[in-house]
Amino acid sequence: MANIAFIGLGNMGGPMAANLVKAGHKVTAFDLMEASRAQARADGAGIADSSVAAVKGADVVVTMLPAGKHVLSVWNEVIPSMGKGALIIDCSTIDVESAKQAHALAAKHGIGSVDAPVSGGTGGAKGATLTFMCGGEDKAFATARPVLENMGKKIVHCGGAGAGQAAKICNNMILGISMIAVGEAFALAEKLGLSHQALFDVASTSSGQCWALTSYCPVPGPVSTSPANNDYKPGFASVLMVKPEGTVMPSRHISARLAPLPPSRFFMAAAPSVRELPKR
Ligand code: NAD
Repeated sequence: MANIAFIGLGNMGGPMAANLVKAGHKVTAFDLMEASRAQARADGAGIADSSVAAVKGADVVVTMLPAGKHVLSVWNEVIPSMGKGALIIDCSTIDVESAKQAHALAAKHGIGSVDAPVSGGTGGAKGATLTFMCGGEDKAFATARPVLENMGKKIVHCGGAGAGQAAKICNNMILGISMIAVGEAFALAEKLGLSHQALFDVASTSSGQCWALTSYCPVPGPVSTSPANNDYKPGFASVLMVKPEGTVMPSRHISARLAPLPPSRFFMAAAPSVRELPKR
């Protein structure tokens, strides 16, 4: 079992750190928020006074933070205090450029590094069923894999530095578009007098089937574990999807044809009976 430092104990990091404790690791954790530190203490982690104190003597350091600027700031702080031969893994969703900068910083200090963003939401974090998409050298990935296996069920080595974040942003693009599409479909169903359950029963076993429908169904009823059936309790801040610094999905990487697609017009176009027809 390893000595693991875990920094960033929010909606995702809190339950991920708890799963490392359950797996038998010695976990030393830190977060800026007292409430998050208290929960991690209750889950069996040791609590450090700072990020730098948390990484002292750690074999592996895991960060789970909001965005690239937080990751670079914390990695800059802690890497000089890490022991030779230790590994640092970032599980946050950040832009590819920041991930590459973070890897370069670790390499400069002789520390192995992996970018390992996740998919699966807070349910996956609690249930240790996350998918990890990893970028980094083979040796660093081989050391990271058994640690990640305590928090997830699918671990994919996508390539070199930043490849995990590249996979994540492509997956997020699919997720964002499919969440809008599913929301629009339920709004359209209401206008057409179709019940939520009927649309769910059909689409979940038809070509409209997707995670946004079957796990995160936006209306109460069909999926008992979806936020819509749990008072829309927050699990993922929408600001994290867009990231305020606007660098997660640089516009130069997006197809000019796809990005401006206005979903509501797309769906309404398929149902002329629920909108006014344009004047000819
Ligand atoms: P969160 O806001 O709940 O947690 C982030 C935590 O980081 C907070 O507790 C905050 O206090 C802490 N923090 C910030 N700066 C810090 C610092 N300098 N030192 C120590 N702690 C610091 O966010 P989350 O929902 O847990 O998401 C974390 C990351 O995972 C994000 O990058 C997000 O995009 C990604 N993600 C989230 C989900 C989800 O469903 N919530 C799913 C997949 C990926």
